[in-house]
Amino acid sequence: HKVYLNGEYLPLSKARVSVLDRGFLFGDGVYEVIPAYHGKLFRLEAHLQRLENSLSNIRLGLSYSVEKWREILLPLVDETKDQYIYLQITRGVAPKRDHAFPTSAVPTVFAMCSDIQYFEGREVGVKAVTMDDNRWEMCHVKATTLLANILLRQQAIEQGCAEAILVKNGYVTEGAASNLFVVIDGELMTPAKSADILPGITRDVIIELAQANDIKVNENVISLEALQAADEIWVTSSTREIIPVVELDGQPVADGHPGPLWRKINELFQQYKQSVS
Ligand code: PMP
Repeated sequence: HKVYLNGEYLPLSKARVSVLDRGFLFGDGVYEVIPAYHGKLFRLEAHLQRLENSLSNIRLGLSYSVEKWREILLPLVDETKDQYIYLQITRGVAPKRDHAFPTSAVPTVFAMCSDIQYFEGREVGVKAVTMDDNRWEMCHVKATTLLANILLRQQAIEQGCAEAILVKNGYVTEGAASNLFVVIDGELMTPAKSADILPGITRDVIIELAQANDIKVNENVISLEALQAADEIWVTSSTREIIPVVELDGQPVADGHPGPLWRKINELFQQYKQSVS
């Protein structure tokens, strides 16, 4: 099982990074998670565009072409399986621990590939719990600094839930590690892109598939009250795909089963995945 680290392919057990790496000391880095369905990198350009945006937001200068990334990533992938690539770039190893950017550090580039585990909650739905969104103000950056997300997700799990749905100033933003869709009065809605959410690639695909099938998507604010009254709630991400939420804060969502629009969009999504892999 080989991983990529700073220009080399080596066994996971041999991959080593200095304790002075700013990723280790500060969480000073960004990452991507890219599905690889039977060897095909899913929406690679979109993932790399988001990576470039993350890098420029944290002022980390590293610019590889799509072709260079493809060359780096493809050897990690097993074409017989559905997998995902985890790709991380940190500001590198500095001579000492200092908040200020180091003057001469070389970014650390790391990538590994793992099997996608089928998420059992997909067909039956999951429980979710609302929580105060106590993250920072650059949630559109896919930063490795995930302490708030980790604590929120862990609290959700300890309450028997699969995801925390985050609420900021009375409006829902996204999940601890997912985007959010709701169906209200037959209309599909998702919070608009802003610095309050990560612009999910799965979110983009769902919007495209819906629109191509004459299902209108309203990208707008969603209040906590609207969420509580929704007919359907979904949380979406690259590795879990589209997960119906059937219980919110201990109350059933509609009849407590995955809804008809989820069924339809999930089917379109599965077909689309097959068609590109
Ligand atoms: N929001 C957050 C906070 C996330 O961590 C993720 C990814 N796990 C997403 C949304 C979904 O993004 P994507 O569809 O690109 O995986």
